[in-house]
Amino acid sequence: MHRIVLPETRPASVGCIEELYARLGASQLTVDADACAAASRDHAWMSPVLTAAMPECARAEVVVRPRTEDQRAVTLAIAYAHDVAVTARGKGTGNYGQAVPLAQGIVVDTSRMEGVSDIGSGWIEANTGTTFTRLELAARETGQELAIFPSTTGSTLGGFLAGGAGGTGSIENGMLWDGYVSELSLLPCWDAPEPQWMSGDAARAHLHAYGTTGIITSARVKLVPARRWTTVFASFSSVGAAAAAGRLILECDPLPRNLSIDDVSLAATLCAHRAMPSGRASLRAIVAESVVSDVERAVLTMGGDVEAVLGEAVSLCVSLSYNHVTLRAKRVDPDICHVQVAGPATVEPYDEVCAVMPNAMLHLDAYARGDTIGYGGLLLASFVDEITLRRGMDRLRELGVQVVDPHTWVLGGHGPLDAVIEVARTNDPKALLNPGKLPR
Ligand code: FAD
Repeated sequence: MHRIVLPETRPASVGCIEELYARLGASQLTVDADACAAASRDHAWMSPVLTAAMPECARAEVVVRPRTEDQRAVTLAIAYAHDVAVTARGKGTGNYGQAVPLAQGIVVDTSRMEGVSDIGSGWIEANTGTTFTRLELAARETGQELAIFPSTTGSTLGGFLAGGAGGTGSIENGMLWDGYVSELSLLPCWDAPEPQWMSGDAARAHLHAYGTTGIITSARVKLVPARRWTTVFASFSSVGAAAAAGRLILECDPLPRNLSIDDVSLAATLCAHRAMPSGRASLRAIVAESVVSDVERAVLTMGGDVEAVLGEAVSLCVSLSYNHVTLRAKRVDPDICHVQVAGPATVEPYDEVCAVMPNAMLHLDAYARGDTIGYGGLLLASFVDEITLRRGMDRLRELGVQVVDPHTWVLGGHGPLDAVIEVARTNDPKALLNPGKLPR
């Protein structure tokens, strides 16, 4: 069984809180118990394992809501001086407990630090707390769109860079690490931190680092020319036929913005639209209007039915991709748990993959990693206990399926970890940033 290790607590002392009040002013922070509890939770509740393991005491004593970069720097300096843990927070949509302050201390809520600061051809620069809804609106005003964004469109830029991986747009533009971030600015946890601007590999070392390398203050991320998108809903007798049609659709130029597939059981569970008929596997693709007839041909070639072509369903398709599928399935059956899977072995042998856990159902999202476009996805199943779940994950690995464990808050599933650990040593010498998340 997986051993959950809790970090040593680094609570906020009276002296620390007094200094925060004195230097930031009462309107920038709260010690209200309910506010602290609310700012100490994220979507880790989607994992029954993390829910059971989450200690009651994992709660900030003070929530700082800075409005300026200077206030964020002062907060880190005070934490450093008093040896108090600091956990950054966007909108708390992370589903691995990324934003939960396991060692107590200060939560820095970045959501007031929002706004687009500049926009040019191929890039947008914004404050860390800016939501993806706002970023996309600003991009569209210039005839551009975000290269990638998560299905949680209300989450923050900083939260996605520090806690996410990919999403809509990842078929054509890859993941966070694939040139999405051209520059970012970050505050280390030192006695007198100043923002550091960086690009290239230096910036990449802070991606998906759960804020353990510093607090991102703003970033410049990639835009691409905006396209006119529409959606195609198709149905198939099996997930294998849907996946084969998906592969043909992935040959279209331009590539789809999103392509998701649910097996027959999952489509029936989600029951999200009349174009996802019961008893059929569902394929949904966000595609350029110019390739709709190619997509329809691919569906028919693989024996499927085109259920609908809907221009107004782009947001719906986004909310039926990635972990939004887990969220929707859990609303139907709270006992469902999820495992993140990837690679060709996820689709074939489908029956063996689904046999590893009780009542398993398969969801796929197409995305590119490096030069390869393939399927990743989610295996959703009834949760029995942690041992059964972990045996299921082991069996998936034996079948050649790549597994990312969503039931741990310790970093390691995505991205290059060595660089993160190295930068964290320099930027956080007292190990105060989001303790418990980085294997040290
Ligand atoms: P939070 O959850 O508040 O924080 C995430 C992490 O980033 C935490 O470790 C936090 O400490 C750190 N952090 C926050 N702000 C900063 C900062 N300024 N500097 C340094 N560290 C910071 N992820 C994907 O990649 N793609 C998806 O499509 C996707 N879909 C999801 C669907 C659902 C239903 C759910 C629950 C989650 C999904 N996620 C997805 C995970 C999550 O939504 C993303 O990682 C999200 O973008 C996090 O943003 P947030 O503002 O909520 O950050």
